[in-house]
Amino acid sequence: MKILIAADMEGVTGVVHWDQVSSRHSEYERFRRLMTQDVNAAIRGAYAGGASELLVTDGHGAGRNILIEELDERARLNSGTPAPYSMVQGIDSGVNAVMFIGYHARVGTPHAILEHTWSETSVANLFLQGEPCGEIGLNAALCDFFNVPVILISGDQAACSEAAELIPGIETAVVKRASGRMAAELLTPALAHEKIAEKAAAAVRKLTSGAAPQPHRLAPPIHMEIEFVHSEMADRAALLPGATRSGRRIAYTANDMAAVYSAFRAAVNLA
Ligand SMILES: [Zn+2]
Repeated sequence: MKILIAADMEGVTGVVHWDQVSSRHSEYERFRRLMTQDVNAAIRGAYAGGASELLVTDGHGAGRNILIEELDERARLNSGTPAPYSMVQGIDSGVNAVMFIGYHARVGTPHAILEHTWSETSVANLFLQGEPCGEIGLNAALCDFFNVPVILISGDQAACSEAAELIPGIETAVVKRASGRMAAELLTPALAHEKIAEKAAAAVRKLTSGAAPQPHRLAPPIHMEIEFVHSEMADRAALLPGATRSGRRIAYTANDMAAVYSAFRAAVNLA
């Protein structure tokens, strides 16, 4: 049983501020270690639950946050960017399930640590099939496209509720309770890691017994709209072949979620 751990940083144990997840700030070194420890807790739990192979993808920023020298040696690490499937690189390598570790809520969610969708400076909103969508929804839709279920999320209470609404039956490990965008009541690392490991083991056991969430492929055509923060961002993103423009939004439609995922990344990079 091969599990992919897709790791982000804003939902990691202890994180409440951008300085803690930005490599240019002195606090970052502490929090990349905590990110590595959150991932190690999930690896430990996944093996305890019956997993036999673990792949980890570092999905925050440039994908160079997890400390390879401190990562559980039973796992392999996808590091660096850009990779074909970005935050869920490895999704096409025959994995049986995915775990989202250190994830955060979509842009606009109240009481959610560092909520945003992909780029806090350029993306004002994202819609998939007309519904508001964040990184949880976007990455899960790509996992669904490969017929792989997402079985666990860790992060704050808002990220966990967003995932539970989207993916009924997903296991959730709440490591902090946000009272604002940059304020939360935190679990200490020891307790948070115990919780992540416990939920990861439960998620793999549910998968083995057939009780885990099933992947739900979006029915084509898949329609995406991205609203940008400034008009000139939409000017640039509208250069994407096949995109149509309206106000600060661009729209894009394809039959295949992998194409929509690539188009989203291309548009945000152009913007
Ligand atoms: Zn991130």
